[in-house]
Amino acid sequence: MQRLNLPGPKARSLVERDHSVVSPSYPRGYPFVMDYGSGTEVWDVDGNRFLDFAAGIAVVATGHSHPKVVEAIQEQAAKFIHISSDFYHEKWIQLSEKLNQIAPFSEDAAVFLTNSGTESVEAAIKLARYHTGRSQFIGFLGGFHGRTIGSITFTASKPIYHRGFFPLMNGVVHAPFPDPYRPLLQTRDGETYGQAVVRYIEDELFGRILPPEDVAGILVEPIQGEGGYIVPAEGFFQALRDLCDRYGILLIVDEVQSGMGRTGKWWAIEHFGVEPDIVTSAKGIASGMPLGAMISRKSVMSWTKGSHGNTYGGNPIACAASLATIDLIQSEYLHNAAEMGGYLMDVLEEIRMRHPSIGDIRGRGLMIGVDFVKDHGTRKPNAYVRERVERFGFEHGILLLGCGKSTIRLSPPLSVKKSEIDEGMMIFDHVIGLAERE
Ligand code: PLP
Repeated sequence: MQRLNLPGPKARSLVERDHSVVSPSYPRGYPFVMDYGSGTEVWDVDGNRFLDFAAGIAVVATGHSHPKVVEAIQEQAAKFIHISSDFYHEKWIQLSEKLNQIAPFSEDAAVFLTNSGTESVEAAIKLARYHTGRSQFIGFLGGFHGRTIGSITFTASKPIYHRGFFPLMNGVVHAPFPDPYRPLLQTRDGETYGQAVVRYIEDELFGRILPPEDVAGILVEPIQGEGGYIVPAEGFFQALRDLCDRYGILLIVDEVQSGMGRTGKWWAIEHFGVEPDIVTSAKGIASGMPLGAMISRKSVMSWTKGSHGNTYGGNPIACAASLATIDLIQSEYLHNAAEMGGYLMDVLEEIRMRHPSIGDIRGRGLMIGVDFVKDHGTRKPNAYVRERVERFGFEHGILLLGCGKSTIRLSPPLSVKKSEIDEGMMIFDHVIGLAERE
């Protein structure tokens, strides 16, 4: 298999210029310098072609520059680019109506549009406090919710996100996420691991440090993203919903990464048969235009005029891109994500047989994690193999991103074709072999 000579001369020169002026805080893993893209394919400035199995961190839901999304953006840009949230426009209303239709509540929804995932989470935190009149929250170890001071307080996937930034927001206590592959808690007879985690919240957190009547909300990713693409253990969400109902706590699901069709359903929470009270969204919602949403049950969005807002909320170009994206997901890609996700899982199970470093393969739809271990008995994370797979993948023409301590996330556009999965997984198989032999 051909190894590309990377970075090429143009990429090298641009990376050098970038390093002299761009903030050094970005966690860039390898020097891919984009020139253009189409669907799942991208090209760098030196003309090298790659398959994009990262999709801009699960953002370009409809693939790179889908013609219908591009057309919607161009048409809207020619009409008006901005008017501000002090006024009204039709695409904003249409998009909110659409989000109401697909929201995972039986009750009607109300929608607050934002510009990013972290802003959606901040809006959810504020609404939960406002609506309940309570101040405290529960988050989960391994969770990722963004990098502004409120959301970063919940973020608990790596210490670097907190180092140097204290003090954070007051009032967040973390519980273990119900990771069935590496459980932290003991399960009792007749109990699932998901139920054990909720019992820990009730007995240990509520019983010792956190009066439940002070808790406004529990913020959780239905499938953890940055923390390792972890699907929660059985019984978790039913028990958590029940706990929230008993204590009048809002269940806030962060669907910034897992939502908008990524898992083969509109929202990942739909896999677990419960309804949340608030949903946060961004990433795939507009195929790459900066847009997010905080969607709540209508009865929960009780804040009054002037209590929350933003300048760019409901940006018309972002709304146009989102409406085109939602149409495409609805007509084709929701189905494709479920079908291609199943196919990708089958291919990975076959690849697993050749590679002792693969410990776990998990996910739903096109949100799949491949976890590398030092040995199968201890399940100790193998960060080295993961890092080499990422790098060798790049050198052989596939863009991959890590997550958790030792996981590669596979999150191609929801439009990915079977032939692209075949080609991408042939490279993946090859580079895992290279990493294992090194
Ligand atoms: N929530 C989740 C689950 C995420 O995965 C992310 C980003 O990766 C965020 C929130 C933050 O989104 P943004 O980077 O758009 O602020």
